[in-house]
Amino acid sequence: MPCHWLIKGSKEYCTKSTKKEYCGMHAYAIRKGAKPPSLCIKCGNGTNSKTQLCIPCGQNKEQSKLWREKQITAM
Ligand SMILES: [Zn+2]
Ligand SMILES: [Zn+2]
Repeated sequence: MPCHWLIKGSKEYCTKSTKKEYCGMHAYAIRKGAKPPSLCIKCGNGTNSKTQLCIPCGQNKEQSKLWREKQITAM
């Protein structure tokens, strides 16, 4: 079966076939602490963002908004 790793910035998954959930390269990346990209909540592309928005969907905007909110609550 194909590897379950979602490619960042696309809706495609890694095409390497594997008997396990992830191909060797991605299983290794996970062991090293990498997190597979998750789906952007707006467009469905892979993203590593905590806000689950990719860059074209305003990841940076969301993050600066979160940052501002944190600054406000810290006051
Ligand atoms: Zn893979
Ligand atoms: Zn997106």
